[in-house]
Amino acid sequence: MTTIFEKIIAGDIPSNKVYEDDETFAFLDADPVNPGHTLVIPKEPYKNIYEIPNDSFAAVMNTVRKLAPVIKEAVGADGINIGQNNDSAAGQEVFHFHVHIMPRFEGDGYTHWQGAENYHKGKSGEKIAKNISGSL
Ligand code: 5GP
Repeated sequence: MTTIFEKIIAGDIPSNKVYEDDETFAFLDADPVNPGHTLVIPKEPYKNIYEIPNDSFAAVMNTVRKLAPVIKEAVGADGINIGQNNDSAAGQEVFHFHVHIMPRFEGDGYTHWQGAENYHKGKSGEKIAKNISGSL
């Protein structure tokens, strides 16, 4: 299924492009957290973190690393959040892998998520860590 991001790369839908190279494309988010909120995507339409190959992931993250300090400076931000959503349950709306570069300003009102469980009060953290490491 073609997503809106492929149409943006092709130029069929307008976007505020900030950067492009052979493998990646970066443009302003249409509904920004703050001014300068940028999306970095691979040109190949991998759906998510599970599908994107290591080399494409590295190319995207190289672009994120290149742009983050430039964006921070350009919009005069106090900080930067990097975000990446996978699956509807995690808030993914466009199923073409993308990384959000989100400028943050002191007192902009956004908060981080609240912890749901304190591992230190029980043994569940140990069990979960073993389940994960045992699956690698
Ligand atoms: P997700 O929730 O999938 O991680 O993020 C998708 C992002 O794409 C959202 O922040 C949304 O504002 C942005 N977006 C969706 N459609 C368009 C569009 O047509 N143009 C641009 N520039 N951004 C879009």
